[in-house]
Amino acid sequence: MTAEIVSVGTELLLGQIANTNAQYLSRVLNDLGYDVYYHTAVGDNRARAAAAVRQALDRSDLVVTTGGLGPTTDDLTREAVADALGLPLELDEGTLGSIARFFEARGRPMPESNRRQALVPRGGRPIPNAHGTAPGILVEHGDKVVLLLPGPPAELVPMVEDSVRPYLARRAGGRPMVLVSRVLKSFGIGESDAEQRVLDLIAGQSNPTIAPLIDSGEVHFRITAKAPDRARALALIAGVEERLRERLGDHIFGADDETLEGAVAAALVERRFSLAVAESCTGGLITHSLTNVPGSSRFLERGLVCYSNASKVQLLGIDEALLAAHGAVSEPVAKAMADGVRRAAGTDYGLSTTGIAGPGGGTPDKPVGLVYIGVAGPRGTRVQRHRFMGQRQENKRRFTQQALALLRRAVLDPGWLEA
Ligand code: ATP
Ligand code: MG
Repeated sequence: MTAEIVSVGTELLLGQIANTNAQYLSRVLNDLGYDVYYHTAVGDNRARAAAAVRQALDRSDLVVTTGGLGPTTDDLTREAVADALGLPLELDEGTLGSIARFFEARGRPMPESNRRQALVPRGGRPIPNAHGTAPGILVEHGDKVVLLLPGPPAELVPMVEDSVRPYLARRAGGRPMVLVSRVLKSFGIGESDAEQRVLDLIAGQSNPTIAPLIDSGEVHFRITAKAPDRARALALIAGVEERLRERLGDHIFGADDETLEGAVAAALVERRFSLAVAESCTGGLITHSLTNVPGSSRFLERGLVCYSNASKVQLLGIDEALLAAHGAVSEPVAKAMADGVRRAAGTDYGLSTTGIAGPGGGTPDKPVGLVYIGVAGPRGTRVQRHRFMGQRQENKRRFTQQALALLRRAVLDPGWLEA
């Protein structure tokens, strides 16, 4: 069954409130196995709201509205839905009675305007509201269903959980479907390149679906499966995951909550390799990331921040002449830093960064965003040069990410350092 949500309220369009009802309703509907294809937000305007509902009814089996069920003149979702369905509004005596009792229980007289809340499109049924005056309304019209739900989340959520969810579950065939997602994370391959490699898989799949997303320098693939239960959804996902991994190889470093630093840490620990880091432009960010991984003492021997030339000479034994000849931001210095920290610490691997985070300090041949990353291992040392275009903090983050990826590669394939 296809479903969509029409949120009614000028406040939404003015940006005064966030449309959390649509988010919540979407989650409920997806949980129950409905395919939600549209969210619409429309202001408190009878003609426009009716048009939005009409359009929704044209293309979906189920339309859920939220908001505009109150007693005041700007609350006109009832009227708009009645217009869209071509039905008259009729007074529901039972509803009028419960609204009257709501006021009676609070010792207040019922304002005349609240009578409007007892109006339902002909054939519609009220949905009890335990937390306010406005009942929801269910209208089954031909093979379409319209649900009118109140705007205040404190009224909407209990109404959905108590009455609407069970109704929709029954209507979905008493066999609710679950939706399960898994995110595969890759690094070191551009978004379009990554997508190219899996385009046929994306195009050929409807369950699970595959959606590529870019997330701070990483390319993620969200695999979403729908099935009667979680185990079957996971089995569907596993099949697609295997094919994605075949196509993307070692670029995939993890899934869901896994991080690049976590993947590096796991690779080092698994092989019982130790690491020392010498950071210039990243100022300790690499070491910080690695020490965010629980158990990092199992592989991390030390992380030095060697910011000045003097510190590079003193702590890493770099030749002053090398610094003078090439400058601190250079391939030979990155190499000497990686070698130097590895030697000083006596570790299997040494990792280094030297670059220009900006905004100042760039020159035509050494521009802002330039970084050299060195990785030294048992079988050799390699340096990579990268260039990023961000602001200072963003550049530092990108340098760090790139350094972690380079290290991971050298750990997974130590022979790569020989070249
Ligand atoms: P009332 O009886 O309070 O008038 P209503 O059903 O007519 O309820 P609205 O008048 O549209 O609903 O909205 C009332 C309040 O509910 C809003 O001020 C806002 O706080 C909240 N609200 C409405 N729509 C949403 C939404 N889509 N997401 C989150 N909150 C909402
Ligand atoms: Mg209102």
